[in-house]
Amino acid sequence: MYLYNSASHKKELFVPNSPDIVKMYTCGPTVYHFAHIGNLRSYIMEDALEKYLRYTGYNVKRVMNITDVGHLTSDADEGEDKMLKGAKREHKSVMEIAKFYTDAFFADCAKLNIKTPDVVEPATGLVDFYIEIIQRLMDNGHAYFAGGNVYFDTSTMERYYVFNDFNAGDLDVGVREGVEEDSNKRNKNDFVLWFTKSKFEDQALKWDSPWGVGYPGWHIECSGIALKHFGEDLDIHCGGIDNAFPHHTNEIVQSEGYLGHKWCNYWVHVSHLLVASGKMSKSSGEFLTVSLLEEKGFDPLAYRLYCLQSHYRKSLMFSWEIMQNAQVTYNKLISRVAALKPEDGEIDQAAVDALKAKFCAGLDNDLNTSLAVTAVYDVLKYNTNDATKLYVLGDFDRVLGLGLLEKGAKKREELKKQAVTAGEFTIISESGEADAEVEAKIQARQDAKKAKNFAEADRIRDELKAAGIELTDIPHGAKWKRLG
Ligand code: AMP
Ligand code: ZN
Repeated sequence: MYLYNSASHKKELFVPNSPDIVKMYTCGPTVYHFAHIGNLRSYIMEDALEKYLRYTGYNVKRVMNITDVGHLTSDADEGEDKMLKGAKREHKSVMEIAKFYTDAFFADCAKLNIKTPDVVEPATGLVDFYIEIIQRLMDNGHAYFAGGNVYFDTSTMERYYVFNDFNAGDLDVGVREGVEEDSNKRNKNDFVLWFTKSKFEDQALKWDSPWGVGYPGWHIECSGIALKHFGEDLDIHCGGIDNAFPHHTNEIVQSEGYLGHKWCNYWVHVSHLLVASGKMSKSSGEFLTVSLLEEKGFDPLAYRLYCLQSHYRKSLMFSWEIMQNAQVTYNKLISRVAALKPEDGEIDQAAVDALKAKFCAGLDNDLNTSLAVTAVYDVLKYNTNDATKLYVLGDFDRVLGLGLLEKGAKKREELKKQAVTAGEFTIISESGEADAEVEAKIQARQDAKKAKNFAEADRIRDELKAAGIELTDIPHGAKWKRLG
């Protein structure tokens, strides 16, 4: 697979450090509010990346942090801690806020078929380890103590900016809000590793440290969590594009300053979801949540489809009209899956191989999910039987996570029920399972009844009963289920 690496500014063949495991780290949410659908765009695309790596046979270990301390309202070490802001807003403790919004985040992820990472680590869980890292950075001259805080000295690294082929607007998006010069800093880009002195003395969570009671900076948590769970190297680090600078830039210098060697090989950044007024953000005005999508009658998976239809490195526009169109597209897709007959034919391996080749060709090219979605439509059009189509769709959905088979089966049942109301003879499986043989027997019994051959009809019912199948006659049809 080729992946665009923000650190080298080109597409590179993806080769993990170890053939046995892909080490993948993702910046998690700051849990002071609900995640908005822009944040979730990043997580959807990262989920597709993880799932595709697994699909191609890699064993992936994915780690995500939960930011529950240290992320200030400006990414440049200024402003209030976002968690404290959330706690004040809701008259709750920081820990209560963290728990509530962490749970809400994973509930939203579940609705979007985003897999929970193998390890989820709250920032507050590893403070002792951050102190160890900072101590080593102090000892080896990469950090200094000034005005009550510990800072990373960016002048000690040969290279600081690594991602600067991004558009400048994206680069300083996090640092613009309320920037003030901090006179303690030796260099403009130096950043806080450990705060003891700050303008907001009411910081809720504080820990003892060699530099005084305080709390860690935001960047150190991601380095610390990744180093703790992966050791000295990392294959892929992901996050939204706004994290590239300063957050990821700072993660690199502090991790490499600590390790004394290169740390992470591939940096994957997802571009922003935009609304008419600009970037969707938690801090500015109204933001859109998964619950709001649902309240307006949209299926979260229609939003997932919309995200997958475009490339992760392009900005994506959101509006309610766009969402309406995405829902129509999703409904049509599910209807087409529902129209396939599960019992129709044997798996046609040549067709499977041809269809998969196109799907993988798209994804191998820097995770082109848009082509992967096109490959889904190719399946529906392909000259093969329905059983093969359903098999391939199920296979693709291991990566796409669009609920194609589940929603398709549900819709198929609904259609059958509608046919009942329309007066047709319909056979419904109570469990949703499809069994061509059972259905054929039920149909034969119906034909016998129609021909007034009641003995034959009773014989078939008994035969089914002996096979553990219970039949119930319903208006214009029959339901069946397996006993026991
Ligand atoms: P936060 O909860 O603010 O720490 O952000 C969680 C993730 O969402 C990070 O990876 C951000 O880079 C990403 N993100 C923030 N805003 C957007 C947006 N409008 N579109 C896509 N991703 C975003
Ligand atoms: Zn991070």
